[in-house]
Amino acid sequence: MIDTHAHLDRDEAQAVLARARESGVERVIVVGTTVDGARDALALADEHDGVYACLGIHPHEAGAAGDGEVQQLAGLFAHPKAVAVGETGLDYFRDYAPHDAQQRLFEGQLALARDIAKPVVIHMRAADDDTLATLAGFDGTVILHCFSSPPILGTALERSYYVSFAGNVTYKNAYELRAAARGVPRDRILAETDSPYLAPQPVRGQRNEPAHVVHTIEALAHARGEDAQELAAQIDANADAAFGL
Ligand SMILES: [Zn+2]
Ligand SMILES: [Zn+2]
Repeated sequence: MIDTHAHLDRDEAQAVLARARESGVERVIVVGTTVDGARDALALADEHDGVYACLGIHPHEAGAAGDGEVQQLAGLFAHPKAVAVGETGLDYFRDYAPHDAQQRLFEGQLALARDIAKPVVIHMRAADDDTLATLAGFDGTVILHCFSSPPILGTALERSYYVSFAGNVTYKNAYELRAAARGVPRDRILAETDSPYLAPQPVRGQRNEPAHVVHTIEALAHARGEDAQELAAQIDANADAAFGL
């Protein structure tokens, strides 16, 4: 299995990745959310088989980052295990950075992804319309990470985006999200932990880690009326296609 989106501390990575392998999660895409975080993600990819790096500047960091940071990021993509740009996008929920700064950084990273022909991993929270409008001009591969916006699923699928579900799809009251999970075609669905956040049932409330993606895949399979092992294999193949692994 693969966890397509995890934030890992380097000190804990050895133990966390060992537990992942014990659970059958052999591959993890580690996400860096700043230039320094991106370097750490690449170091982890160097140190561990099956670990890949997604490099971006999170919209939360947009207040402190600009074109210079995107250029530094671009330099890191010479690494063979740097597989995607992101997470980037817009977050009007936490609203840690001014919207115009978020927008500029988002557009800068889309331009980077286009230049280097890498997929882009999108963080979108309470900003669905602006995010989709900005993405309309982007013709590369798009992965909507931690998908939590059922109303825009139709648009996402029309545009052939990959839709990645996290632990919140397992929560008791997440009926709409599970209905969305049923609506995603087999070749567009992904699963992730977004560790250390959003631990799925039955480990909700604990610190999340890649091993726990198993629970999210099981919940997705249950919602879709599919066999969990078959869905896991399908998600592995989808991740290969989406991230060019
Ligand atoms: Zn995110
Ligand atoms: Zn994330």
